[in-house]
Amino acid sequence: MAARLLDGTAVALQIRREVAPAVAAFTERAGRPPGLGIVLVGEDPASEIYVRAKLKSAADEGLRADLHRVPATASLADVLGLVAQLNESDAHDGILVQSPLPAPMGEDAERRVFDLVRPDKDVDGFHPINVGRLVQNRATLRSCTPAGVMEMLKRSDIAVAGRRAVVIGRSDIVGKPMALLLLHHHATVTICHSRTVDLPAVAATADILVTAIGRPGFVTPAFVKPGATVIDVGTTQVSDRAIVERLFPTGSKRREVFERRGSLVVGDVHPDVAQVAGALSPVPGGVGPLTIAMLLKNTLAAAELRAGANG
Ligand code: NAP
Repeated sequence: MAARLLDGTAVALQIRREVAPAVAAFTERAGRPPGLGIVLVGEDPASEIYVRAKLKSAADEGLRADLHRVPATASLADVLGLVAQLNESDAHDGILVQSPLPAPMGEDAERRVFDLVRPDKDVDGFHPINVGRLVQNRATLRSCTPAGVMEMLKRSDIAVAGRRAVVIGRSDIVGKPMALLLLHHHATVTICHSRTVDLPAVAATADILVTAIGRPGFVTPAFVKPGATVIDVGTTQVSDRAIVERLFPTGSKRREVFERRGSLVVGDVHPDVAQVAGALSPVPGGVGPLTIAMLLKNTLAAAELRAGANG
């Protein structure tokens, strides 16, 4: 039987519909909308798409979002200087620095930038203070993608408490916070990574399997317990025809998209998993829209917190 499809676009819309009146109420009270400053360094094509989507979604729900572009040739000091300005700005409640930063800025560039963002404006939830609060289950600004996954589970009536969850991927921005949120919702959590031995067997113990590694079609039916919920966070822009042909049959919708555009966004989950899983989040249209909805929610929360702290 085919898995129930978890419609991230619909859940995101629900969240955005809840955020919009609260944004209007804040604007009325504060005399200004909640403000989000987005910093984009360089011209990475995927980042351009994500940033455009974030700007549009924020504007659609009544927030003020502005884009601060920095050329790829700029120095790390320039980026840090811009973040310092946004930290001081009264009009900005949230700051988001789009990842990845250009490689020449150095390996620890992102960490240095995220460390500088004021914790109360850190709408990505990446600052060590917010990560520490997350560990203690008292975070107000939680990392958007994992928080979006939890909303998807909750609003799709998928129970978490007492169930076995496996997270594949241990990054600071997805895997680790995802595991912590599942833990705080009383799942029994295992985290897997590139050194995990017999990954398919470990993954197949999961009632809820979340994959966030960025390897197209990596998670095959062998990784999935029949009836399990599978959440696909992975998004990889694929232009290699051989990969697309391996995953999607001729005549399928995804193949048509590839033929038209010459590339395709592909998740970590192999399409055959739909025959084994009980519920499955698609790519695209799964976790992506939720990440943006949670960003808007976090920006509103940051604005309300700052307004409360200032008055
Ligand atoms: P990342 O920092 O590159 O981390 C990838 C993780 O995957 C690492 O922990 C790595 O293990 C693990 N991994 C890689 N290959 C593996 C393998 N063969 N077997 C087991 N584990 C493996 O990536 P990220 O930032 O967490 O992002 C992960 C994916 O999510 C990407 O596709 C990204 O585009 C996507 N993403 C989507 C959204 C959204 O809104 N939909 C948001 C954020 C990220 P090691 O630690 O052992 O190296």
